[in-house]
Amino acid sequence: MKKNIIDLKNVAKYYEMGENIVKALDGVNINIEKGSFVAIMGPSGSGKSTAMNLVGNLDIQTKGKIFLDNQETSKLTESHLAQIRGKKIGFIFQSFNLIPNLTVKENVMLPMMFQGIDSEEREDIAEELLEKVELINRIDHYPTQISGGEMQRVAIARALANNPEVILADEPTGNLDTKTGENVIKFLKKLNNEGKTVIMVTHEPELAEAYADVVYWLRDGKIEKVSKHKNRFKIVKQERKFIKKNINRKIKESKK
Ligand code: ADP
Ligand code: MG
Repeated sequence: MKKNIIDLKNVAKYYEMGENIVKALDGVNINIEKGSFVAIMGPSGSGKSTAMNLVGNLDIQTKGKIFLDNQETSKLTESHLAQIRGKKIGFIFQSFNLIPNLTVKENVMLPMMFQGIDSEEREDIAEELLEKVELINRIDHYPTQISGGEMQRVAIARALANNPEVILADEPTGNLDTKTGENVIKFLKKLNNEGKTVIMVTHEPELAEAYADVVYWLRDGKIEKVSKHKNRFKIVKQERKFIKKNINRKIKESKK
């Protein structure tokens, strides 16, 4: 229990549509272990985005309890919750959600404005993050001047702006071709290897099974099954090189 960063306990989300009640989510238990890579799978309309918005505390459940770091979120004030969410969770969306009249760098700087970081430091951090997602040569471009894959990498950099523990990605590859999409996921996996908790919604089972430790399969607002793949050894070559570099650096530092 203590090792989980987010827990949904018997959570439901209902929408009243005239005479009907839409049970977007109908009593689910989701446990997100710190440092894990979790995928939420299921057909369109199965409740994936609803689940994701509740996991990210962007929405309020109709029933059940949600815990963030073992704190029940309904017991926190709206502003306290927003503050915690801003610090702990970074969001990535299918449609990128970049602000069109801000440059790539300004888009990445934006979330830091609400966390009281001065503008010079915001700029430095944004540049570092854009370097990390290999976009340092696009910092002064506007979103319309870059490709879809690049836009999603800007969104990843933006999600990392406040150095969150958790990254939530709702169908991050939904608007990308297969190869570009896989690259985006590899970035997410790299972040996961560095210690971030990653939760990704997808309707592509190959992606879920190749990258996630745990897969929640949703259907009609319910969890159909949960599958676990402890496949951390299946890291791609490039990531292994990255890890090795990091390890070497740490060894070097420890010898100083
Ligand atoms: P998914 O992301 O898996 O495609 P969603 O979580 O977006 O599914 O939606 C699950 C179900 O809840 C769908 O039937 C959808 O139509 C319904 N739904 C989602 N949001 C709303 C809303 N704001 N009002 C009414 N129904 C909604
Ligand atoms: Mg969705």
